[in-house]
Amino acid sequence: MSARILVVDDVPANVKLLEARLSAEYFDVMTASNGAEALAICLRAECDIILLDVMMPDMDGFEVCRRLKTDPLTHHIPVVMVTALDSPADRIRGLEAGADDFLTKPVSDVVLIARVRSLTRLKMMTDELRMRAITSLEIGVQAPERSAVADTGKGGRILLVDDRQSSYERLASLLAAEHTVDVEPNPTEALFHAAEGNYDLLIVSLDLNNFDGLRLCSQARSLERTRHVPILAISDAESGTRLLRGLEIGVNDYLLRPVDKNELLARARTQIRRRRYTDHLRDNVQNSIEMAITDALTGLHNRRYMESHLATLAEQASTRGKPLALMILDIDYFKSINDNYGHDAGDDVLREFAVRVRKSIRGIDLACRYGGEEFVIVMPETDLHVAGMVAERLRRSIAGEPFSVHKGTRRIEVTISIGLTTLEQKGEAVADVLKRADTALYRAKHDGRNRVVSQAA
Ligand code: GH3
Ligand code: MG
Ligand code: MG
Repeated sequence: MSARILVVDDVPANVKLLEARLSAEYFDVMTASNGAEALAICLRAECDIILLDVMMPDMDGFEVCRRLKTDPLTHHIPVVMVTALDSPADRIRGLEAGADDFLTKPVSDVVLIARVRSLTRLKMMTDELRMRAITSLEIGVQAPERSAVADTGKGGRILLVDDRQSSYERLASLLAAEHTVDVEPNPTEALFHAAEGNYDLLIVSLDLNNFDGLRLCSQARSLERTRHVPILAISDAESGTRLLRGLEIGVNDYLLRPVDKNELLARARTQIRRRRYTDHLRDNVQNSIEMAITDALTGLHNRRYMESHLATLAEQASTRGKPLALMILDIDYFKSINDNYGHDAGDDVLREFAVRVRKSIRGIDLACRYGGEEFVIVMPETDLHVAGMVAERLRRSIAGEPFSVHKGTRRIEVTISIGLTTLEQKGEAVADVLKRADTALYRAKHDGRNRVVSQAA
C-alpha cells in the first residue's frame, strides 16, 4: 500500500523537486503552496504524511505544524519540517510545534526516502489502531487524541545505553531535568534491562566499544517486551550510513554529537508523547475487544461471541467428523432469589455460578452467558454420554454447596436445570442444535427442575 505524501512549499521549483523524487519511489504525491491550503487538505484526511516548508509567507511552517498537532482531527499525521535553517534553535522550535522530523535543504535522496518510509510504517500502524479504537469511542471511552494533545511528554522513564562515562553522565544529568533516567553502561546487559524496565524511551549510543549499537536496536525491535518502545540513537557525526541503516531497522530518531541540551530534551519529549499515544490507542483496542466479547458481570463470553464462535466450532466438528455437545443451563426459580434476597444477591449468585462453571469445564470448552440466568456450554470432541456426565457433575456442584450472598452473611440453596444435546454427525444449523437443547431444558423444568435432560440428535 502506497502512502500519500503532501508536499507544502511556496516555491514551485521546490515542490516539483520533491514531487519527482517521491513519485519515482511510487509514493502518491499531493501538493500545496501555502499553509491554509495544507491545513484544508489535512482536515479532509487526504494525506498520510506532510513534508512542510518552514519559510512561507502568511503562515509559516511552525504555525501550520502547531495547528495540525493541536487539533485532534489532524494530530496523528506525521509532519516533517523541510528547512534551510539548521541551527539547533530552529529544530527545537519545530519540535516544540510538534514536528516529527526534519529534513535539511538541500534534501539528500537517501535520507528523504528513509524518513518517509519509516514514517509511513508508523502512520499505517497508528491508522490501524485508530480505526479499531473508534469502537471504544462509540461506547464512551475517552478519545485518545484529547489526552495526547495535552501530553507534555515529560515524566518519562528512559533507559540510556552508553559505555562512555563522560558521555552518559552528561546525558543523564540533562535528561534528569524532565525524566527518570537509568543508565546501562554494559551493552550486553542492555536488552535484558530494557525488557525488564517498562521504559518509555531507549537512548542508544551507536559508538559503543566492541559492540554494535545497531544490533541492540534491532534486537529491541524484535523482542515482544521492547517492540513498541521508541529508540533514539546517538551517534558521532561521521557515521551517516549507519544512521540510515538504523532508521531502516526501526530506530525512531537520532541525534549527532555534540548533543545539544534543548534538542535532546525536545526529541525525547516527542518520542515519549508518541509512545504514550500509541500505547493508549493499543489499550483502547484491547479493552474494546474484550468488552465486545465478554459479559461484564460474570466474565464469561457473551451471547454475541458464542453465536459467532459456535458456527466455527460446528463447522470444524462436521469436517473432522468429531462430536460436539451443547448444553443450556438455567437457574431454577431465580426470580424468587431476587425477590427474597434482593437484586444484589441475585448478582452474587450469577458470579459464583460462573466460577463453579469454569472449574467444571475444560479449557477448550466454551462457556457463555446466554441471557439473564441462562448459560450455554459448548464442548468440542465430546459425545452425548460424556457430556451427560459433565452436566451431572455441574448440576451437583451447584446444588451440593449453598451460595453465599451479602458478603458471606447469608447462604442460599441454588439449583439448575440443564438441557443437553449434540450436533448431528452430518452437520446441521447451529440454530437447530440450540433449539433442541432448549426443548430438553424445557422438559427438565417441566419434570421438576434440578435435573439434566439429554436429547439425542
Ligand atoms: P425457572 O426455574 O422457570 O427458570 O424460573 P426463574 O425464576 O429462574 O425464571 P424467570 O425467567 O421467570 O426469571 C428470571 C429472572 O432473572 C428474571 C430477571 O429479573 C432475573 N435476572 C435476569 N438478569 C439478571 C441479572 O443480571 N441480575 C439479577 N440479579 N437478576 C437477573
Ligand atoms: Mg431460571
Ligand atoms: Mg429463565
